[in-house]
Amino acid sequence: MGERILLIAKDAEARIRAHGVETYPHECCGALLGKDDGTAISTGDQPVREVWSLFPLVNRRDDSPRNRFSVTSEDVLAAEKAAKEQGLEVVGWYHSHPDHPARPSEYDRDHAWPWYSYIIVSVAEGKPELMTSWRLNDDRASYETESIQIHPSEAEMEALRTEIDRKRAGA
Ligand SMILES: [Zn+2]
Repeated sequence: MGERILLIAKDAEARIRAHGVETYPHECCGALLGKDDGTAISTGDQPVREVWSLFPLVNRRDDSPRNRFSVTSEDVLAAEKAAKEQGLEVVGWYHSHPDHPARPSEYDRDHAWPWYSYIIVSVAEGKPELMTSWRLNDDRASYETESIQIHPSEAEMEALRTEIDRKRAGA
């Protein structure tokens, strides 16, 4: 199996960057709302997880907001409710790394849950830079990176779905 793909709507991608700039030099955080239910677009045998919108959260870490964020169980419930209202599910979480590379820190790995996608955007001197995504493996000891692919609009995503359906029907 190749690298996992995280397909993200262009607006959502832009909003993560904007959120990182807004809270700089502190970390921003939020939930990724999307689909991972088998209806997502697949390329070959590779399932694709989709991110359609965001649920921004308030970083509740007041001890070290520059390099830490925490998601509480209330945050999880609120994010799940928001997702459900849009016919989506919580597929992951995002946060920023002010003046640090977009790599998961030890703290990030210690506090992550398997299955979810974790997007990190690096914000250097107030400007958004590299964005990466990773998932913790079930053993909690290692993680895998995901390839982030941006999709311009819902209409384009729909067109891609139709094309794939047509190919499947013809095969
Ligand atoms: Zn982090």
